[in-house]
Amino acid sequence: LDLRSEDLQTLEELGAGNGGTVSRVIHLPTKSIMARKVIHIDAQPAVRKQILRELQIMHDCNHPNIVSFYGAFLHDSEISYCMEYMDVGALDGICAKNGAFPMDVIGLITVSVLKGLSYLYTNHKIVHRDLKPSNILINSTGMVKICDFGVSGQLVNSIANTFVGTSNYMSPERIRGWNYGVQSDVWSLGITLMELALGRFPLDAECKSLTILELLQHIVNEPLPRLPRGEFPEDFCNFVDICLAKNVESRPSPDLLAKHPYYRRAERETVDMEHWVSHLHK
Ligand code: ATP
Ligand code: MG
Repeated sequence: LDLRSEDLQTLEELGAGNGGTVSRVIHLPTKSIMARKVIHIDAQPAVRKQILRELQIMHDCNHPNIVSFYGAFLHDSEISYCMEYMDVGALDGICAKNGAFPMDVIGLITVSVLKGLSYLYTNHKIVHRDLKPSNILINSTGMVKICDFGVSGQLVNSIANTFVGTSNYMSPERIRGWNYGVQSDVWSLGITLMELALGRFPLDAECKSLTILELLQHIVNEPLPRLPRGEFPEDFCNFVDICLAKNVESRPSPDLLAKHPYYRRAERETVDMEHWVSHLHK
């Protein structure tokens, strides 16, 4: 499929993040619905072309827990990529309108995200780099998939250079500018799961008055809040605890996490996702 801007008609804007804007579009020649992300990058044409080349790796990333990629193209000074449209949306929006997630749904999300991360890392040596609720999507068949992973080093650089690459979900070693590995994604998963269980960003209570830099310093230096024991299953609390090991060497990889009792229990559970998504406030 050769995607061109002229063939895409915008239907609605879905949201905007640090890097760009996402819209629901229709590809007129095939009548297919897609999500289009437009990223404005102030870079030389040669750099933009390199980003475009690097994005093509996404064509090879095929997995049930990875959002499908349809193609990328340059248009004026912008880079677009088109991906599978996920009609229920991202976890941040669902959490904002519906509060804390049920535990069985969190279990399915845990298993789905870890399968996606493990696939990217094992088969393509790709580390996600930007795992957070807005990059985990759900559709009305109940599938959970991840998107916006760092396939393009040049794109990551170009966005990082503008300082918008920072996020509340970054691991201590990432904040310190140390080596970044698949364990750093595990940290981001831990913060995300805590947020879904509590229905709010876990560091908010004590960090409301902090600037982003102070918050990042807090993550590096201070002990993290833990889930209230008794309110959540013990195996889940332990799972989140080990994802949030400050020292990257003591943090498990996705493959090791897949051996954890909580993961195994979640994997065995059947969850009526279609029922849950059909009752969400939109
Ligand atoms: P970042 O720029 O760091 O990735 P972000 O994830 O908040 O931050 P975008 O990636 O631009 O920002 O996404 C904005 C919003 O668009 C998301 O919160 C989500 O609701 C929606 N969205 C993104 N991709 C899709 C998709 N494939 N299908 C449906 N909705 C999507
Ligand atoms: Mg995103």
